[in-house]
Amino acid sequence: MKRPNAWNDYTDAQLEELEALSADYRAFISVNKTEREWCAAGVELARRAGYLSLDDCVRDGRTLKAGDRVFATSHNKTLMLVELGSEPLSRGLNILGAHTDSPRLDIKQVPLEETDGIAYLDTHYYGGIKKYQWLTLPLALHGVVCKKDGTTVDVCIGENEFDPVFCVSDLLPHLGSEQMDKKASEFIPGEALDVIVGNRPLKLDADDKSEPVRAQVMQLLAQQLDIDEEDLLSAELEVVPAGPARDLGLDRSMILGYGHDDRSCSYPCLKAQLAVKAPRRTAVTLLVDKEEIGSVGATGMTSTFFEDTIAEICALAGEGDALSLRRCLRNSRVLSCDVCAAFDPAYASVYEKKNAAFMGHGLSFMKYTGARGKSGSNDTDAEFVAEVRRIMDAAGVHFQTCELGKVDAGGGGTIAYILARYTMDVIDCGVPVISMHSPWEVISKADLYEAYRAYQAFLND
Ligand code: MN
Ligand code: MN
Repeated sequence: MKRPNAWNDYTDAQLEELEALSADYRAFISVNKTEREWCAAGVELARRAGYLSLDDCVRDGRTLKAGDRVFATSHNKTLMLVELGSEPLSRGLNILGAHTDSPRLDIKQVPLEETDGIAYLDTHYYGGIKKYQWLTLPLALHGVVCKKDGTTVDVCIGENEFDPVFCVSDLLPHLGSEQMDKKASEFIPGEALDVIVGNRPLKLDADDKSEPVRAQVMQLLAQQLDIDEEDLLSAELEVVPAGPARDLGLDRSMILGYGHDDRSCSYPCLKAQLAVKAPRRTAVTLLVDKEEIGSVGATGMTSTFFEDTIAEICALAGEGDALSLRRCLRNSRVLSCDVCAAFDPAYASVYEKKNAAFMGHGLSFMKYTGARGKSGSNDTDAEFVAEVRRIMDAAGVHFQTCELGKVDAGGGGTIAYILARYTMDVIDCGVPVISMHSPWEVISKADLYEAYRAYQAFLND
């Protein structure tokens, strides 16, 4: 079963559209590197496209009807966009679900320390990373510091070309003979992922024994951000690779960027949702947080945000009874949009080739994910797979199918099983990624474009 290479089939007009989408995507992920930044940027795009705040609609007792567009957010991290269709909500929704959090280093609550004249911010890594990949890279600091007076200071240092950056050090090879014998998993302990933030002492009084480099760093933070050290207790600061996403390859066919997992899906979801026009079934895009640590917490997929938001919308649309909500959820269908492992010839032994996704061959559908005998997987019905094939073929979308590597090679999960609890049809699909969960991941522009086309086709079906 050969799936054609998408690049061979494009018209000039499609290539132009593909490059425009890729450029927009590159710019968007270069600026928006945290779930908070995604939520804020998503709200801005939604408002410009005529989306109203659901909270405002509820407050004003506004009635919702076909064609109305509303958005809801949760804790400034999770975002949901809804365009009401001409059919009653109880007939079900067409849902695109993706996540906007990515693996990174989070700054600890009490982070600042000075050791032998170097000041560090101590971190606790977030998500599944190979820790050694984070050494010696230019790093940026994104996030918020929340103060007791209720104000929030936005932080973004390391992205502007004139900004300083940060890094985690590594040992020079000349002195690394013992280190080089270590297993990759033990190469650098998590506790040693300390980010260098300063080396210049503040001139203290001669009798002051305190740490002068640390004092200098704290003074700079106080001056630049108007915060004191106690304020770091209520901060969420994320250390991410500094700098923009770039075209990859002489042929510029790929993009090297931070957070393709899962932004190479979230972005086309968002764009497809904004492009929907007068759908029959209500169109929903759900961009959630915390997928990389198990979809837990108030902003993860396992929270009641999704169900609560749908209940509010049903009520404003005149379908506020309990049974209509249950029907709406049960009759819905979902593309759970999350990246998959692209076949990498350099590591061919962990893939089973006929069930692997290849870069440039389009959006990849995964009937099941999981590990060790499909454990933890939402194994989609064959009936729904057939329905999705119909939609994709009718729209001329390039798609492929895959598993996450060879049987028992490892495994992973997505948000699919959580939505499937409502008895709705859910299938995983996503953009194939090389070097997934590394600081700089690789995708094909063709696959990004096919994801966009596929998501539009699904929402409009
Ligand atoms: Mn993911
Ligand atoms: Mn992931």
